[in-house]
Amino acid sequence: MSFETLGLAPGLLRALADNQYTTPTPIQAQAIPLVLAGHDVLGGAQTGTGKTAAFGLPLLQKLAELPKPQGLHRPRALILTPTRELAVQVSDNLRSYAKYLRLNVTALFGGVGMQPQIDAFRRGVDVLVACPGRLIDHLERGTCKLGEVQLLVLDEADRMLDMGFLPSIQRVMKHVPSQRQTLLFSATFEPRIKALALDFLKNPQQVQVAAQNTVVETIQHRAHPVDGNKKRDLLIQILAERHTEQVLVFGKTKHGCNRLAEQLEAAGLPALAIHGNKSQAARQKALNEFKSGKTRILVATDVAARGLDIPQLPLVINHDLPMVAEDYVHRIGRTGRNGASGEAISLVAPEEAHLLRQIQKLLGRDIVMDTVAGFAPSRAIRSDAKPFDNTPRAARPSRNRRPHGKPRKPEAHAHAHTGPKPVQREGQREGQREGQRGARQGERRGAR
Ligand code: AMP
Repeated sequence: MSFETLGLAPGLLRALADNQYTTPTPIQAQAIPLVLAGHDVLGGAQTGTGKTAAFGLPLLQKLAELPKPQGLHRPRALILTPTRELAVQVSDNLRSYAKYLRLNVTALFGGVGMQPQIDAFRRGVDVLVACPGRLIDHLERGTCKLGEVQLLVLDEADRMLDMGFLPSIQRVMKHVPSQRQTLLFSATFEPRIKALALDFLKNPQQVQVAAQNTVVETIQHRAHPVDGNKKRDLLIQILAERHTEQVLVFGKTKHGCNRLAEQLEAAGLPALAIHGNKSQAARQKALNEFKSGKTRILVATDVAARGLDIPQLPLVINHDLPMVAEDYVHRIGRTGRNGASGEAISLVAPEEAHLLRQIQKLLGRDIVMDTVAGFAPSRAIRSDAKPFDNTPRAARPSRNRRPHGKPRKPEAHAHAHTGPKPVQREGQREGQREGQRGARQGERRGAR
């Protein structure tokens, strides 16, 4: 199978040759002919499968075949992405594919000035790659019009829903003509994605490259049981031992990631943090330095790392396990790409045993538990059973030995079975803030 046989135009084939793409990936082989034939497509694929080219190549070809509008021209294709990094990545890819087609590809995201974006609209845009929040700001100001859109892509739709963007997507849809071709890509086809497809796609053709939540077989998974307060030292030891490799380290919170990067730096292991509180420029700089190999260690939250295309990463370390098992799959999706071998190491504190079990259940396999000398946790972790207390019976706090006269608190004996407090995920907060901001702006405008 070659790109020629998929029916792509010479200008695109030349750009693909420049990019040294020789063979279509499975999602490209399936999706490109369907999109060229004008179908709506529901695509099941995550980052690393070549999904951007799967929708980007036929989209560019279709636009190039239409007569080029003169002067000020409005976007004819809109790609919605959940994060700024993904918007930059997708637009960079599309620009490289479109280099012989004379199509303008513009990325639109928050955290930067509006004026340069308004100027870009004035110059004319063919393909707009946008995050929903900033796009709505422009739609409400009237600085962007979507009335000419003929092709719409919802990229990483599952992530957009996770981040609370459904209301924003619904608002954007009101500005897009109903006569259009729509493509929806998502890592999973869970019911809410099917519901979204029912709302926005017409007779979609379904293509999928990997079963839901499957993980590349070439990835080795390992878990090191360790007490929470020893994780940092263990991480430093691992990073120092593996001093030649590029590593993506996942932390739970923005603050935790910042602190961890600083602590690694102090231990002589230069690291950068990337998370939602950093300015767009700082995030992009950190990402560029990591991608170019200038920085070896990147510490990231799930949201910041979402959809990042960092090819051939040999090692991903979970300093904290994700609160949601599916995020483990997304995290380690950054290693073991294109058949390369990869490794996923998780530092697991006894309180995280239930999260490890959920991950194993999702993967359908056990993760090897490997205690590192000097880091054995004070409580054993049984990954295949309920959290389990191996301290001698006599040493355990007894329910009956509570201080004299004190009533027993209902939660006092429940701690062994409860996981960490359910924390709101960064993305949910970002998404909510985005929605609230939009609503606030609407209110301000209404009051004027
Ligand atoms: P994506 O899943 O779209 O983020 O793509 C993952 C990576 O694969 C990107 O670095 C692409 O440039 C690369 N890629 C996409 N399609 C191909 C292909 N057919 N051959 C080689 N590399 C590709």
